[in-house]
Amino acid sequence: MSRCPVCGGAANLLDVVDFNKSCEEQRGKFVSLAGVPVYYEQCESCGFCFAGEICNWPKERFAELIYNQEYKEFDPDYLSARPLANAHAVLNTFKDTASSVRHLDYGGGDGLLSKTLTEHGWNSMTWDPFAHSVINPRDLGAFNFITAFEVFEHVPDVHELMSHLKDLLQNPGIVIFSTLLLDGNIQKNARLTWWYASPRNGHISLFSRKSLELLAAQYGFQFRSFSPGVHLFFTEIPAFAQHAITV
Ligand SMILES: [Zn+2]
Repeated sequence: MSRCPVCGGAANLLDVVDFNKSCEEQRGKFVSLAGVPVYYEQCESCGFCFAGEICNWPKERFAELIYNQEYKEFDPDYLSARPLANAHAVLNTFKDTASSVRHLDYGGGDGLLSKTLTEHGWNSMTWDPFAHSVINPRDLGAFNFITAFEVFEHVPDVHELMSHLKDLLQNPGIVIFSTLLLDGNIQKNARLTWWYASPRNGHISLFSRKSLELLAAQYGFQFRSFSPGVHLFFTEIPAFAQHAITV
C-alpha cells in the first residue's frame, strides 16, 4: 500500500503490465515483450491510477527508455499530425481573438502547435519538460491561455505540473488540456486492458474525474470537462474565450 499523490488516500496495486504495452496495440501493432513488469496502483479514494516506480525515475531515464529514438513508433502522431490538428482546432475556436491572447503550449514537444499559431499572428510560446529542460517555465511570464494536449498522463509529479500551471496562468485565464478519463475504463478486480494505460507511451498518471476535481480545488481552479478527453481549468473566463466557453 502506498499513498495517492493526488489526495493522500490509500493506493493499492491494481495490476501489472509489460513495459512494452503501447497505445498502438489498439491499432493492431504489437511488439515483443520487454520482460519488465510495470505495476499500476490505484487510489481507493479518488481513483487516480499511477505507475509508481516509473514516476520516481530520474529524468535521464525517461529520455533513455521512453522518449528515445523508437518513441515515434509508439506515438506516430506526436511529431506532426496531433500538434497541427490541435493548432487548427484552437484557431477555429478562437479565430478572431489572437490580439488579446498570450498563449503557452505547455508540454509542447518540438513546438509545432505554437509555431503554427505564431504564423497566424498569435503571441504564442511553447515549453516542454524534456525539450527545454534547462528553462524554468516560471521564467516565461504569465499567460491568459495555456494548452496542454496529451501532457497530464505523462507527468511523474502531478503537483509539479499543477504548481507550474498555477504560477503561469493569469486571472482571468484558461487552461485547456486533454487526457482521457479512466472512469469506466478501469475496474478493480479486473485486468488492466485499457489501451491508454501504456508504459511504453509514458502514460504513467491516469486521472479519474474526481482526481482532476480535487487537483483543481487544491490549486484554486474551477474545473469543467468538454468531453471524456478534453478539459478546462480556469479562474475567470477571459473575454476572448467567452463566446466559446459557457460555464
Ligand atoms: Zn487519491
